[in-house]
Amino acid sequence: AAMPEQDFLSDSSRFDDDLRPQYLKDVVGQRKVVERIQIMLDATRRREEPFGHLLLDGPPGLGKTTLATVIPRELGTEIQITSGPSLSAPKDLLPFLTNASYGSVLFIDEIHRMPPAVEEFIYPAMEDYRVDITLGDGLNARTLNMSLQKFCVIGATTRSGMLTAPLRDRFVNREHLDFYEPADLTEIIVRNARKLNTSISEDAADLIAIRSRGTPRKANNLLHWIRDYAVVKSTSGKITLSLANDAIAMQEIDHLGLEEQDRRYLNTLYEVFAGGPAGLNAIAHTMDVPPDTLEDEVEPFLLRSGLIKRTPRGRMLTRKTYEHLSLEPPAA
Ligand code: ADP
Repeated sequence: AAMPEQDFLSDSSRFDDDLRPQYLKDVVGQRKVVERIQIMLDATRRREEPFGHLLLDGPPGLGKTTLATVIPRELGTEIQITSGPSLSAPKDLLPFLTNASYGSVLFIDEIHRMPPAVEEFIYPAMEDYRVDITLGDGLNARTLNMSLQKFCVIGATTRSGMLTAPLRDRFVNREHLDFYEPADLTEIIVRNARKLNTSISEDAADLIAIRSRGTPRKANNLLHWIRDYAVVKSTSGKITLSLANDAIAMQEIDHLGLEEQDRRYLNTLYEVFAGGPAGLNAIAHTMDVPPDTLEDEVEPFLLRSGLIKRTPRGRMLTRKTYEHLSLEPPAA
C-alpha cells in the first residue's frame, strides 16, 4: 500500500527518537522546570515512595513526552504509555492500572481527550489506588472494589484549560513548558549534529535555532532536512551558513520561523477579516483546518511572537504583523 503523504516538517515520529534526551542532565533549557523535577526526583528517592502525579502542559514538540520518559528512567522504574483518544471506555484503562507495578509511571498523552467515563474511573485510582468495577447490570449489578499498587500518572496536554477541575486537582505537581530561547535551541542543534556525526558551523546552528519556532522538535526536523540537503548539495557534507539558508528557503520557512500554515492564518485574518477581531471557528472554517489544530499548533507561537493578540471579541493582527508581512493596516 502507498504510504500516506505527509508534510516533511510536521512528521514528528520519524527521526527524533534517537535524539531524545535520556536523562535529566541531557534536557536542555526549561531550567526552572528541570530544577523542580530534580527536587521531586531526589525527594522520591529519599522517601522511597512513588513520584507524585505530574501534569505537563504546553504546545506540541516542547519536551512533554521527553520528560515523561526521563523520569522513570531516572528512578529505574517501568513506564507504560497510552493516550487520551485511545482510552474510549474504562475497560481500556483497566489493564494499565492493574499492570502498574509499585512506583511505576503511567504516561497518558493528550490527557484532555479522555472521555468523562474514563476520567471518573481514574479518580479513585489516582487518589486512593483503587478502582470500582461494576459487574452485570440492573438488579444483578455488583460493584467490585479492587486495590492497585501505588503508581504515578504523568499526563501531558496541549490544553490545560480543557482539563476538568477535578482531574487537574488530582495532579499534585503541574509544570508548564514554554517555547525555547534561541540559545537553548542552538545548544540542542549543536549536540544533535554531533550525535548525527554531522559537522555544522556555529552561525548555521544559530540560524536553524531562530527558524525553529521555539520548538526542539522543529529544530531536530530541520537539522535532519539540512543534513540531507548537505549530503546532496555539498561535497564536504558540512552544514555552513549559506547551505543552511538555502535548505531552509526550500522549506518555505521565513525569517521569523513562520511556516506556510502560519502565513495562511495571518493572511486569512488580514484578507477575509480585515485584521480582526475574528473568532477562532470562523478563521478555522475559512482555512478549512480544524479549530483544534489552529489553537494547538498555530496560535501559541503567533501569540508568543506578538503577531496576533486575543481579545474578548476574537483574534486580531498587531502592528508587528503588518510590518512583517509588509501590509497596509486597514483604515481605522
Ligand atoms: P511533546 O511531547 O511536548 O510533543 P517531545 O518530548 O516529543 O515533545 O519532544 C520532541 C523532540 O524534541 C524530542 O524527541 C527531543 O528529541 C526533542 N526535545 C524536546 N525537548 C528537549 C530538550 N529540552 N532538550 C533536548 N531535546 C529536546
